[in-house]
Amino acid sequence: MCGIVGYVGSNLAYPILIDGLKKLEYRGYDSAGVALHTGKALEVYKKEGKVAALEDYVYGKNIQATVGIGHTRWATHGVPSDRNAHPHYSNSGNIAMIHNGIIENYAQLKSELVQKGYTFASDTDSEVLLNFIEDIKINNDCSLEEAVRIALKRVVGAYVILLIDQDLPDTIIAARKGSPLVIGIGNNAHYLGSDASPMLAYTKEVVYINDYELAIVRPDELILKNLGNERITPFVQKLDIELAAIEKGGYDHFMLKEIFEQPQTIFDSLRGRLDAEHQHITLSGVDKIKEKLIHANRVIIVACGTSWHAGLLAEYVIEELCRINVEVEYASEFRYRNPIITDKDVIIAVSQSGETADTLVAIENAKKQGATIFGLVNVVGSSIARMSDAGAYTHAGPEIGVASTKAFTAQLAVLYLIALKVAYEKQTIDKTLFNKLLGDLAKVPQYVQDILEEQDAAIKEIANKYADARDFLYLGRGFNFPIALEGALKLKEISYIHAEGYPAAEMKHGPIALVDENLPVVFVATKDSYHEKIVSNIQEIKARKGQVIAVVSQGDNVVAGLADDVMVVPQIHEILAPILSVVPLQLLSYYIGINRGLDVDKPRNLAKSVTVE
Ligand code: GLU
Repeated sequence: MCGIVGYVGSNLAYPILIDGLKKLEYRGYDSAGVALHTGKALEVYKKEGKVAALEDYVYGKNIQATVGIGHTRWATHGVPSDRNAHPHYSNSGNIAMIHNGIIENYAQLKSELVQKGYTFASDTDSEVLLNFIEDIKINNDCSLEEAVRIALKRVVGAYVILLIDQDLPDTIIAARKGSPLVIGIGNNAHYLGSDASPMLAYTKEVVYINDYELAIVRPDELILKNLGNERITPFVQKLDIELAAIEKGGYDHFMLKEIFEQPQTIFDSLRGRLDAEHQHITLSGVDKIKEKLIHANRVIIVACGTSWHAGLLAEYVIEELCRINVEVEYASEFRYRNPIITDKDVIIAVSQSGETADTLVAIENAKKQGATIFGLVNVVGSSIARMSDAGAYTHAGPEIGVASTKAFTAQLAVLYLIALKVAYEKQTIDKTLFNKLLGDLAKVPQYVQDILEEQDAAIKEIANKYADARDFLYLGRGFNFPIALEGALKLKEISYIHAEGYPAAEMKHGPIALVDENLPVVFVATKDSYHEKIVSNIQEIKARKGQVIAVVSQGDNVVAGLADDVMVVPQIHEILAPILSVVPLQLLSYYIGINRGLDVDKPRNLAKSVTVE
């Protein structure tokens, strides 16, 4: 959450910052702002709303500067407004700062500063940290770098901060703990960002900054230090993302582009790993901790949001195929619950961004208690990837739409591979089933392509029919239950319609009271071992005049005959059905959101990459 950018070089900073902020807008869009060092003075421009509002506001103003920092906010402390927008000025007006994260002891620091006569122009925790730094700088008569170092030793919380100082016309000071920071190395220039997207057009050489590191960044120099003031040699890595991967490429929205990319992204998650022809799975991450996995007392899957739904499906699959006891945990609960963890437990952390704050701390805690950590993340080089003992990337490419789609199906694809490989090594799966599942998994990219081609128009119609509904119910059984949850979540996120996901049989214990002729009920009802059961559940809804929309397997005339509307998916082994069933539900949410005139890429109150608790 919250995007930060910075530039020091010999070109105009402002266009680079604005372009970078647009690329990071998925991380927050409550307000946007920039601070520019004109060589003589600091200029701060900031505005509530999206980056476009900032651009309008800055039009005609002085942007003659080759050094600057920029911020797009997801508010934690203080409402979205001009005054709470970043960057903030220090009390003297000599320093400007942007911040991503939360300063947990800000109230204590603030009261100390107020006693000293400091005043505050915003309600943010960030402005407190800035003035705390300025106070140290003045009292100790030290450099900004030194003041930042001293201040951070007292700070509790998570942060990336970028500062510019009136007296340092060619320098950005940056530091991080818990929130991401990447620095790109250009030609007599450096680029800073929450991820690499703002710098992709200019450089492929980047340095990922670690927790408790401080960077002094000038056009021709990048100095990295730890908080003990010792120099660290920057580890330069080469990016292998192309600029086109983070652009809309002719689609109206990133969400739609990402839904349609899934045949390719699922293929990419399987590529080089799944060899259906020779019945083999290559996953070096699993090999690395093979013994731990085979003899695991428990696998504990830790995740949030959509990734949690992927984890829930993995619980069903791993228990079925590997006969290992699996638990799925919300990272935010797990980290505070004092769970019982031993060195025989393997934690699988699932996160698109690899920066999810709660997941990060949850695995940190589990690691301290001796558990082995396996990271399943999309963003290469992210914090979870670096903290894990072993892992696998999902290879879905950058996901910009705030509601996750292609990252989810990529997570499922890799979780299937993990389960199958462990089952094979552990000899808990017979060869026929193993071969069947490998063969079916290899067909998934083509099947998803078929769904997109054949169902898109019909789903658009269904969306138009139900777009004014007030509530939705999503029901599924067994392997499709997590997909019912995911379908409901997607609809809530994108359309702001109240939606609930339930195990289909559970509906009789409460939700059925909601059913009347105005309630659309989405059944994830592909052919599986519980098929007759879900057919009965559909009958029960129909008997109460509910409107049934069903995801059905091709050729299933029974459900098709009962339902008011159907979305058809190819027949596949029931364990793998969820990776297909979710695709029509993504499209349904997208088209309902569009029908209601909403900004589906930037849904209200949400942001991607949840780096705050
Ligand atoms: N806590 C800060 C604020 O509310 C920064 C939030 C963010 O990371 O966007 O302004």
